[in-house]
Amino acid sequence: MPGYETIGEEERREVLEILSKKVLFRYEFHSERGGVYKVEQFEEEFARYCGTRFALAVSSGTAALKVALASLGIGPGDEVVTQGFTFVATWEAILDMGAIPVFSEIDETLCMDPDDLEKRISPNTKVIMPVHMCGAQARIDKIMEIAKRHNLYVIEDTAQACGGRFRGKTLGSFGDVGTFSFDSVKTITTGEGGMLITDDESLYIKASQYHDHGHDHNPELPRGLEGRDFIGFNFRMMELQGAIGIAQLRKLDSIILKRQRKNKKIIKELLSGKDLIRFRHIPDPEGDTATFLSIFIDNEDELKRFKDIMGSYNIPIIYWGENLWHNFSHWEHLHGQKSIQRYGYPFKDRDGSLRMRYHSDELPKTSEILSRCISIPISIYMDETIEKIREAVTRL
Ligand SMILES: *Cc1c(COP(=O)(O)O)cnc(C)c1O
Repeated sequence: MPGYETIGEEERREVLEILSKKVLFRYEFHSERGGVYKVEQFEEEFARYCGTRFALAVSSGTAALKVALASLGIGPGDEVVTQGFTFVATWEAILDMGAIPVFSEIDETLCMDPDDLEKRISPNTKVIMPVHMCGAQARIDKIMEIAKRHNLYVIEDTAQACGGRFRGKTLGSFGDVGTFSFDSVKTITTGEGGMLITDDESLYIKASQYHDHGHDHNPELPRGLEGRDFIGFNFRMMELQGAIGIAQLRKLDSIILKRQRKNKKIIKELLSGKDLIRFRHIPDPEGDTATFLSIFIDNEDELKRFKDIMGSYNIPIIYWGENLWHNFSHWEHLHGQKSIQRYGYPFKDRDGSLRMRYHSDELPKTSEILSRCISIPISIYMDETIEKIREAVTRL
């Protein structure tokens, strides 16, 4: 996930333009900024890239999920179905809105299993939140069909698949809202930052107001006199991030995805023909961002041998079976209802009663799939790593 690898002269030029004007803030300062609105420009270019009507930049990918849920009116008592293989942020956002995350199994796409999803839908379900994990698509066509049939909203957590597509259409643009992250390990980065995309104007307006303390952004009024339709919060992106985002977005197709796809293809060819290795199922390989090459090794001894050989050549790999931050079975703080709050909210009510409960072994299919799954992270500059892989595979 190598946006950071490409930071250079283009980002520097964009940032210096901000510093010369001294306006680090997206709103107000109209006379001082001399027509420079970097966050707004980033939003416009991002929406155009995704083919959606609206984009709203926010302070992180987690904030994007929260703002998306808020703008759909989600709160206590509502259930949101997501998947047991994702970064913890996905369900943190749901819990933080007072709603209840319900976890579905994944399949060999490493994303939501549509058959299992359908079993998790209850009368309280309001949203389906699939995650396009490790750079490639969930079975978004099936998921959208289920959502329509049950009249549910869809928020696509696209934090790990910026620039990905399914049958030519940008990931994040299928659901009611798509969310993105630009943190340190993502395909494009702004240091910290996130984005929401949508075609729904009223949803966009709500999101824009909620992420800025409820300001109604009435262009006729100075900021201090603007009205409010509801209470909000602060998830604003700053101009420095917007500036970097503009430069990064311009590199997404032309450098980042192009180089990743080239490197992934080379590595995939090196591993092809090894009987014990099977590749992750990707519903539309053409729309893969090629951020990871993910494989399954079904035999336990061979899996260990693969890890040992890669380790001996210092080749970075991720074994998802033991991963603490993405694998449901290892989220002890979730299973153990660990809260910073005095009486244990969001797990407990004030009277001590449990609002929900999770057990580490309740997603056996997800645990089993992840126990034999390894990803090789793909980056832009990895010629040395590729040479090491070339040598290592001769010993497999
Ligand atoms: C990175 C990530 C997020 C959160 O993004 P931040 O910008 O770090 O808050 C959310 N969901 C997934 C799947 C992620 O990988």
